[in-house]
Amino acid sequence: MRDRLHLRLVAFATLLTACGFDPAGSEVVEPPSVYREWWAKTEACSGLTGDFDRVEWMIVPGESFACSSGECVGHWDPGHRIYVASDWAHHEMVVRHEMLHDLMRRRGHPSPPFGSGCPLTWESWAASQATTGMTPATPVPSRLLD
Ligand SMILES: [Zn+2]
Repeated sequence: MRDRLHLRLVAFATLLTACGFDPAGSEVVEPPSVYREWWAKTEACSGLTGDFDRVEWMIVPGESFACSSGECVGHWDPGHRIYVASDWAHHEMVVRHEMLHDLMRRRGHPSPPFGSGCPLTWESWAASQATTGMTPATPVPSRLLD
């Protein structure tokens, strides 16, 4: 019993001291094929180009994860690493928002391309979906996109 408890404490301490951005439970995944289409769309709306295969995709289990600005559903790391909460991994706007950071190679949300050009913010995405007449404007969630 004592040994097992000790092992668990060591594992916990290792988790705490791991350097860099590393939300608990995140796993490297192979991007679904639709991500490649979304990448192409994001290149097109922004006029930027980048290497899709250079991006490392990390899925964090759950609805959101802790990030520097609060609770995030997506986070871009300058080392071409993108974190997405598993509940949002198939949400086009969330995924493409992070793609756009990688194409721009910077944080922050200047418009253009965010909002004007690429409707990849909660507000502009809801508005762009509403204009198709297919779906009513969805309420804007407060989830953050780093
Ligand atoms: Zn962002």
